[in-house]
Amino acid sequence: MAVGVFDLFSVGIGPSSSHTVGPMRAAAAFAAELADAGVLPAVAGLRVDLYGSLAATGRGHGTMTAVLLGLEGFAPELILPEQVDKRLADIAATGKLRLGAELPGDRGVVLAYTAEDIILHPLTILPRHTNGVKFAALDAGGAVLHEGTWFSVGGGFIVRDGEEDAAAAELESSKAQLPYPFRTAAELLAHCEANNLSISQVMLANEMASRTEADIRAGLLHIRDVMEECKNSAIRRTGLLPGGLNVRRRAPAWHTRLRAEDPTRDPKFWQEWVNLVALAVNEENASGGRVVTAPTNGAAGIIPAVLFYATHYGPGMEGATPAERDDVVVRFLLAAGAVGVLYKEQASISGAEVGCQGEVGSASSMAAAGLAEILGGTPAQVENAAEIAMEHNLGLTCDPIGGLVQVPCIERNAIGAAKAVNAAKMALWGDGDHRVSLDEVIITMRETGRDMSDKYKETAMGGLAVNVVEC
Ligand code: SF4
Repeated sequence: MAVGVFDLFSVGIGPSSSHTVGPMRAAAAFAAELADAGVLPAVAGLRVDLYGSLAATGRGHGTMTAVLLGLEGFAPELILPEQVDKRLADIAATGKLRLGAELPGDRGVVLAYTAEDIILHPLTILPRHTNGVKFAALDAGGAVLHEGTWFSVGGGFIVRDGEEDAAAAELESSKAQLPYPFRTAAELLAHCEANNLSISQVMLANEMASRTEADIRAGLLHIRDVMEECKNSAIRRTGLLPGGLNVRRRAPAWHTRLRAEDPTRDPKFWQEWVNLVALAVNEENASGGRVVTAPTNGAAGIIPAVLFYATHYGPGMEGATPAERDDVVVRFLLAAGAVGVLYKEQASISGAEVGCQGEVGSASSMAAAGLAEILGGTPAQVENAAEIAMEHNLGLTCDPIGGLVQVPCIERNAIGAAKAVNAAKMALWGDGDHRVSLDEVIITMRETGRDMSDKYKETAMGGLAVNVVEC
């Protein structure tokens, strides 16, 4: 299927879309293959090999535990944080894994499991992508019953090795069903101009190729609700974030302080509220909580923070009805999604592929587009807002300390949100005519990512990850 808004905004668990959500999906796909092939009852053992970035930072990103849950058949969009805790505690206590038990139908098989069943190859990069995971199911004699390799290519998207061409062909054919297919910003703007449509209207028309307008609206409002609950959950939690870095949660105290200092939602506090939402969402992500990948988990706080700005400080929002606020949410997410499609099509949203510019940069650019759209920007101004936000995230490296999605990730989301607001405001003070196009910036991001040392692509082998003492 063509990449759509519900691919870019999907519900999952933290802390990483590429290292948690994607591997869980891959493991669940492997378990489903075993069940469909009828070999599940014969499986007596498993071997999982993690390659490249998944192996280098998998421990801090929760990859191993995500793989275990996926092998049990859990889906990241459905599993609840309390189920995560319970199943992992059970596996640790019993040393037993229920392979395929959560798949539809009663098909699970109980296996002995030890940490040695997952083998790490941090220095081995498979040809297709740095985030590779290979599964092998073994019979009682140790012979391989079934095996398969998947790649987690960012934002929770996965590709099975050997099926890349089929997936690309399916993508191209599904795009032919869209009324306004686009791969580049130039094509998107041409559709807007030829049909007198806004960017969110083009995206809506494309989404309606596969679902009704009512379903799209309900789905996007559900995404907003999960973002909101994610923030609310974070401000109820106190203490340190997990992982051993001793990072304090700041959202609860900041929320208490803001409620006291800004009881009437004075616009002069907008920046503090935007910071709070970004921090809260990313603290929840770092805690393994339920988040919306937007378009990734590491950058999950930016779009909720800027959406908060849009629905609280945007034009006409004071005194707006719930339905009017909902309209703003839908238009914002559609415009942001359209820009997300451009990054997926022309570059990457994977920190392991292009560094943090692909995660925080893409999210900032998407948020800027969403905000410019609901502030009344023309398509050219929306494109300009997205371009400004990415232009000033070019070269941003990925260097998470301890391989955890905490430092610099959490604060970086607040900064990315601020850039998005500023980019939208700058674009709206222009007329849409500008020197550097969004397509040029996207290509530059892709090329910069290609030239970037692997040390700065989600391996925790460079930058802050090696220069800051962990204690
Ligand atoms: S530095 Fe950026 S890309 Fe890397 S883990 Fe953190 S948010 Fe993701």
